[in-house]
Amino acid sequence: MNLECEHGQLARACNICEYEREIAELRARVVELEAALTEERQRTRLSETVIRENEALTKENMELVASRDELKRIAIEAKARVEEMLRDMREIGVAE
Ligand SMILES: [Zn+2]
Repeated sequence: MNLECEHGQLARACNICEYEREIAELRARVVELEAALTEERQRTRLSETVIRENEALTKENMELVASRDELKRIAIEAKARVEEMLRDMREIGVAE
């Protein structure tokens, strides 16, 4: 094993060698973090899609509830109108 490194220093005491090792470790860490970030971005995109779909369904559901309420209101009015007409018909003796 060489005692002297490519920088002309005693290998185990060379700061440049030490920095190069640190840089290599940091580069590897950056690659790992970039991969994790890519994965996270993909998950975020999926979550955003689910949120958008959920919002669309909530909107649709609210519209359905609104039209159901409107139909209910119309049905109540119609029933009241029929009862009123039956009352009128009973008054003039057309119905029992
Ligand atoms: Zn060195």
